[in-house]
Amino acid sequence: MAKVAIDAGHGGSDPGAVFEGRQEKDDNLRLALAVGEILEQNGVDVFYTRTDDVYQTPFQKATAANNADADFLVSLHRNSSPMPNQYTGVETLVYDKSGDKLEMAENINGQLEQLGFRNIGVKERPGLVVLRRSKMPAVLVEAGFINSEEDNRLFDEEFDGIAKGIAQGILDTLNSNGAAQMPNIPGQTVYYRVQTGAYRNLENAIRQRDQLESEGYPVFIIEKDGYYLVQVGAFRNLGNATRMEGILRGNGYQTYITT
Ligand SMILES: [Zn+2]
Repeated sequence: MAKVAIDAGHGGSDPGAVFEGRQEKDDNLRLALAVGEILEQNGVDVFYTRTDDVYQTPFQKATAANNADADFLVSLHRNSSPMPNQYTGVETLVYDKSGDKLEMAENINGQLEQLGFRNIGVKERPGLVVLRRSKMPAVLVEAGFINSEEDNRLFDEEFDGIAKGIAQGILDTLNSNGAAQMPNIPGQTVYYRVQTGAYRNLENAIRQRDQLESEGYPVFIIEKDGYYLVQVGAFRNLGNATRMEGILRGNGYQTYITT
């Protein structure tokens, strides 16, 4: 199972950017908890650098992620410009434009662009401590400008979509690297998957997979005995699979857990 460290930028005596009483550290924490929850629902092992309003230096944040042995670090921030309402948009910062972190940064930006944010792009910031001192691929997401009324309106109105989009960008990266879905791991480790359908017709399986994918689930199709099986997962922990099953059933899917 992939492990992702989620960092709510700033905290405690460091509010980050502030605009008309709105403090970046609060937006960051709310978003971090929402993104983390979606990742956990999708079978990701989530480590939070903070879950409440405490001060940490960027070095402490990077060190915490290193000590947690996370596979990725995602640091969540809001941007700020010198003058109010000067700029709008999302950008994601990386140590350098290479590898999995570039892919994850582009995936996240793409998801947020679909919600109506201007996509400023991926930028290299090798001087940022949280990116430089973390041992794993790390991205720093600037989720719109906190001193832009337009971006704040989007941030508040589309908050759930933003959390889902960032989580989806992370999950897509994990999936393309084989870290999140491991249906055929040899050896003794058992993986649990939640099956939502078994179809003779591939098109029907693809339709359900696309539907699940659009809802943010890590889903894939397996061919077995002439059937196309649509499955969500995989989970190493049965409890996580059961939790996912509950969510899927709540959304109207008929499910059962398989290994
Ligand atoms: Zn910040």
